[in-house]
Amino acid sequence: MAKDSFSKFRSLLKKSNHIVIVTHWSPDGDAMGSSLALYNYLVKTGKKASVITPNDYPDFLHWLPGNSKVTDFMKQGKKAATLIKKADLIFTLDFNTFKRLEGLGELLEKSPQPKVLIDHHQQPDDYAILQYHDIKASSTCELVYELICGLGGKKLIDKQIATCLYTGLLTDTGSFKYDSVTPQTHRIVADLLETGLRVSDIHSAIYDTYSVYRMKLLGYCLTEKMVVLPEYHTAYITLTQEELDRFHFQKGDTEGIVNYPFAIKGIKFCAFFSEGEGKIKASFRSKGRFDVNSFARKYFAGGGHINAAGGKSLTSMVSTINTFVSILPAYKKELK
Ligand code: 5GP
Ligand code: MN
Repeated sequence: MAKDSFSKFRSLLKKSNHIVIVTHWSPDGDAMGSSLALYNYLVKTGKKASVITPNDYPDFLHWLPGNSKVTDFMKQGKKAATLIKKADLIFTLDFNTFKRLEGLGELLEKSPQPKVLIDHHQQPDDYAILQYHDIKASSTCELVYELICGLGGKKLIDKQIATCLYTGLLTDTGSFKYDSVTPQTHRIVADLLETGLRVSDIHSAIYDTYSVYRMKLLGYCLTEKMVVLPEYHTAYITLTQEELDRFHFQKGDTEGIVNYPFAIKGIKFCAFFSEGEGKIKASFRSKGRFDVNSFARKYFAGGGHINAAGGKSLTSMVSTINTFVSILPAYKKELK
């Protein structure tokens, strides 16, 4: 854990007026929730702020307060570069290595502006002048909430900021069911509810948005593509580009599929592999002590958290799965 003092953040913010907030590739609920919460807060304190994402994110996050002000680096590279050039401070949220931002990361790595890191992933790179980092935090939104309060801004948390924060807390905790949830998580939620937000509306806006194709893709994954390896308490699902095309894949359609096999008694390790963008994207989830962050770092050039991580493979699907299955015997004890 590395949390710089609130007074350091306060004096840094005092001298910064053009602030850019960036988050990771394929932003999720916590990435967009934390970025837009911080954006709305900074604007309320009179700063010029902007959010830049490395690429687009799913439709089910496009309703968040402040969304229309987000700059997508892939679509508006020039505008993003100008904003970065003009900035006197850059907040980096929900990631800890510029490798997770592809082209935007390369630009930021070379940029002279001071960077601040707010994150809860394991093993952060050392690029920030100030950090608010805690791997025990359920979400980056939890940390942004703490930071805003530490800066004396609790009374500025209105329904819009609370909506953004609640979104990250909800999505990064699997609807408040992971071990990362603490009494503090629920205390924060209680504070957010005081602003009058409607949890059922937020839940629906995020989860009740499937297209018919997405629903059928999920059904296909579970009936046709799920492989269960009881010996290793493991299940995995694969999707090729051809299969994604068949179900008219849209960004976000495979989100959450990795978790479904956990509903099977005894499953402790779930993996999901999908083709796209010239590589195979891997998602890993575990229950209990099996560390998928180490697993993803060691074998799939990735990382994340102990119970949720991702990575990639540059070989074919068949060879990726062969490798994956061949690694499992080495972890038989951990997966018991
Ligand atoms: P997901 O499987 O949902 O893409 O990601 C699960 C977790 O692992 C997230 O916290 C995400 O930030 C992290 N993660 C996903 N892909 C990568 C990757 O390629 N590299 C690293 N370092 N982390 C990843
Ligand atoms: Mn997160």
